[in-house]
Amino acid sequence: MNPLALAAAMNLSRAEFLAKCGQLYDTEQKEKERLKLMDLEKLALNGCLEIGLMVLACAVKDHPLRNPDQEFLCERCKKPMRIQEKAQKNTLTTTMGKFEYARPYCVCDPCGISYAPLDRAMGIPVEGHSILTCEKICQASVTTSSFGVASKNLKGLAHIEMAPKRIRDVAEGEGKILAEVAQEEVRKYQAGQLEGPLEGCADLMVVCADGGRVQSRQGFACWGECRDSVRISTSRAPEQEKAESRWKEDKVGVIYNAKAQPNRSAGKLEDYVGAKAQIKTYTATMRPWEDFGWLLRVEAERRGYTVAKQKVFIGDGAKHV
Ligand SMILES: [Zn+2]
Repeated sequence: MNPLALAAAMNLSRAEFLAKCGQLYDTEQKEKERLKLMDLEKLALNGCLEIGLMVLACAVKDHPLRNPDQEFLCERCKKPMRIQEKAQKNTLTTTMGKFEYARPYCVCDPCGISYAPLDRAMGIPVEGHSILTCEKICQASVTTSSFGVASKNLKGLAHIEMAPKRIRDVAEGEGKILAEVAQEEVRKYQAGQLEGPLEGCADLMVVCADGGRVQSRQGFACWGECRDSVRISTSRAPEQEKAESRWKEDKVGVIYNAKAQPNRSAGKLEDYVGAKAQIKTYTATMRPWEDFGWLLRVEAERRGYTVAKQKVFIGDGAKHV
């Protein structure tokens, strides 16, 4: 959407908004006999995005917390906050497109915190993109081989334009938060503060774990920390050792529930139909095996491993596993 249309969208009344929807409808009706399905589809899709963006922009514009002539109470101490800026601008990236809006920005001096009350109330992250956009960024990042490919996919499939560097920052930031949450759960589990299994008694719970080798960008500096998990012959040339020390070990575990399918009469391996996995959850880390063990254990317990009727662990029998 161009900036002019966007500016207009921010000030639309209900009647104007409906008129805009009507305009799109009329264009489609008028053109539908002349246009091929592909053209109509593009027209309809662009219309959906345009109207969707208007809905979002209007919802933000009409929000009562956009008015600076009121008292904002600090979410921590419940006392009035100081308004630092009456109309601080913010550009928000959503799955429908980008738009700019202004809202009061407040500070609580005693608590030492500052935020925009409207953003807090609407669940708008400070990073400048909606949560739904963040989900798509993360999905594109973990299912593609590079942030460059993720960027192209996001543009082509989700109409989100974002540079690879920015995608990387968002995805790695979210990953860091997830890792911290998992680590906090391990700490609680070790202190006996984590609640019992969230899932009921499964027929069969399966836990699998394995390590793999991945080449990192870290060079010789990581040698000390990764030498335990990388086999390097000392007879190799220093240059080769330096190159190999970039190799690290990732540890990946999967936990799933299944319906047990014992088939003792299956003679040959190919006749055996195994238990089909139902819900799979994963845990993975580049940290030492001991840390990985705790992460896997907490996830297994959460999934109800201890209360399952049957339990299976599948591993290759390597020392660490
Ligand atoms: Zn406060």
